[in-house]
Amino acid sequence: MPAPPGPDVRGFLSDAEGSALYEAACYAGTIGPVLEIGSWCGRSTIWLAQGAREAGTIVFALDHHRGSEEHQPGEMFHDPDLIDGDGNVDTLREFRRNIARADVEAHVIPIVAGTAQVTRFFRPQLGMVFIDGGHSIEAALTDWRSFGQCLLPGGILAIHDVFTDAGAGGQAPYTVWRLALDSGLYKEHGATESLRLLLRLS
Ligand code: MG
Repeated sequence: MPAPPGPDVRGFLSDAEGSALYEAACYAGTIGPVLEIGSWCGRSTIWLAQGAREAGTIVFALDHHRGSEEHQPGEMFHDPDLIDGDGNVDTLREFRRNIARADVEAHVIPIVAGTAQVTRFFRPQLGMVFIDGGHSIEAALTDWRSFGQCLLPGGILAIHDVFTDAGAGGQAPYTVWRLALDSGLYKEHGATESLRLLLRLS
């Protein structure tokens, strides 16, 4: 059984959602490696890495570690403890500490970059993609367009913060979920709170 991240591991993922990610990674990791887009302080990475370990694969953990729009000073989800000496958001040190404490360093390959920066040079074939990066429509669409097509048949696309009701939350992740379903290449594979899983058909 996976060990949930400790309460000191910052993040926006519930244990129920994390457990669903773990189960998905245990399965999809047998098809190919896992790509997480948006690792923040590693809460979801720890769940995914434990699944990847079960499946004998790894998690590429893609994050520039400078925070999304909503994490910047003055914004809703800003955390003053995550500001470095130069006044910039820096979650990399916290991420590394949490991954090490969870004993999953051997199953995580951090990529410290943004999606737009890395996508021209990094085109892996993947068993699972977890989209939880920036929640602006531009950021979410870039993540989807860059890595949705890297999923192998039978793989799993996971999207966090999908709210069908615009009153409950931002609509960018929902837009990606809708686009994926409308493409005809995916079918629904489960939902836990705001986490949606889609199965890649072909
Ligand atoms: Mg999220």
